[in-house]
Parts: sequence; C-alpha cells; structure tokens
Amino acid sequence: MANQNKQLSPLKPGIGILGGTFDPIHLGHTQSAQAVADELDLKKVLLIPAHIPPHKTSQELVPHASAQQRATMVEISCHGSTLFSCDQRELKRSGHSYTVDTLTALKKENPNRPLYFIIGMDSLMTFTHWYQYREILTLCHLIVNSRPNYAFEQLNQATIALLKKHQTSNLAELKNVESGNIYFAKTNLFDVSSTQIRHHLVSKTSWNLQLMPEISEYIHKNKLYR
Ligand code: ATP
Repeated sequence: MANQNKQLSPLKPGIGILGGTFDPIHLGHTQSAQAVADELDLKKVLLIPAHIPPHKTSQELVPHASAQQRATMVEISCHGSTLFSCDQRELKRSGHSYTVDTLTALKKENPNRPLYFIIGMDSLMTFTHWYQYREILTLCHLIVNSRPNYAFEQLNQATIALLKKHQTSNLAELKNVESGNIYFAKTNLFDVSSTQIRHHLVSKTSWNLQLMPEISEYIHKNKLYR
C-alpha cells in the first residue's frame, strides 16, 4: 500500500546514445540521430566509438582507420554542435566493451533520466544475439531507424517476440518511463554505410556527398581507406 502512495519523482530530460564503429562516421549516422533528437525533443546525443579487436579489421580487404582516427573523426563531427558529443569510454578500456556495461555506467551517471539507445534496423536484426540484450532493455529504450535493404519482414522470430512485448508507438511512454520500450522512429531513409564509403574510396568513385566536408578532408589528409 505504501508503495502505491509513493510519489514518483518526475524524470529528467533523456539522452540519446549512438554507438558504432564509425569507420568512418558519415551523414547517415549524424542525420538519422539528429532526426531522432528532433522527434523525441532530445538536447543531448552521445556518440560512442566502439573498440574493434585488431583481428576483426584485418579480415576485410578494405583498410580501416585506427581507433584514434575513428575517434578523431567523431570528435570533428561534434565540433560546434550543441547536440552531439563524443564519449570515448569504450576506446579507453583495453578490451571489448559490451553495450550492457556501457549503458550500466551511463545509467549510474544519469539517474532518473531515460536513455535512448539509437540503432539502425540492421542492428535490430542481430539484437537478440547481443550479450545480455534483455538487461539492455532494463537500462534504456531502443530507438530504431530504418535502413535501406533491411525490411521488417526479415526480422527473426525472437526479435518479433521481443517487439510484441516491448514495442510502443507512444512518445509519452518513452518520456515517462526510464527504459524498456522499442520505438520505430519516423525518420527518412539514409542510404549510406561506412562499408560503401570505404569501397568508394578504394575504387575512387564518388563518395563526398555522404560525409561532412571536414571528415572528407581528414580522410584525404591522413590517406585513409586507400
Ligand atoms: P559498416 O558499413 O562498417 O557496418 P555502418 O555504416 O553500419 O558501418 P556503424 O558504425 O556500424 O555504421 O553503425 C553504428 C550505428 O548506426 C548502428 O546502429 C547502425 O545501424 C546505425 N547506422 C549506420 N548507418 C546508418 C544509416 N544510414 N541510417 C540509420 N542508421 C545507421
């Protein structure tokens, strides 16, 4: 009974989080995250570059940037932005960081504030294979952006079951509870990926439009992805 009468303190404004390899960061990342921020009225979005084990990057034929270069490109994308900031905590740890650990730390630092973990549809497709994915949903809401070539119909049964339990289209629900909902953002499609950009750079075909000019310049100056 006492619990029922307990006054819940109102939640503080939420924070968007976009984790990725950002190899390199492109307009699909920033513009889709910006659109989510507009839709959810977020004032802050953290871009968190992931640590990639060296054996993983050497498997592809196309060369990759170092962790420091990826982080620098993310920092450059945040220059002058009041919305975006770069959080390098995963790179500062020596080994792989699980999303659940990063979110646990962020939750501790931001009590009483909803965390909105922004992912593309490709990431939702693998989400039920992520380490402790159920725990992740106790720490944040998932905000899903559509991506070309990743259709709802391709989702596996486990993800469909997860959506049945957690999906909402109610924005108020996302703001009034701290975690546990999955929301499909109404953003446009951004037809770009880091893989496409790396391939374009190797084959020297057109690619400029999908990167901030400052990032193109950094890639050129540092002779990346050749
Ligand atoms: P790669 O092609 O190397 O796999 P990527 O372009 O998918 O890279 P990541 O850094 O792996 O980029 O993505 C980080 C997050 O951003 C993921 O959740 C991914 O789904 C999302 N994302 C990437 N590109 C887009 C895009 N064009 N539109 C919406 N979300 C995107």
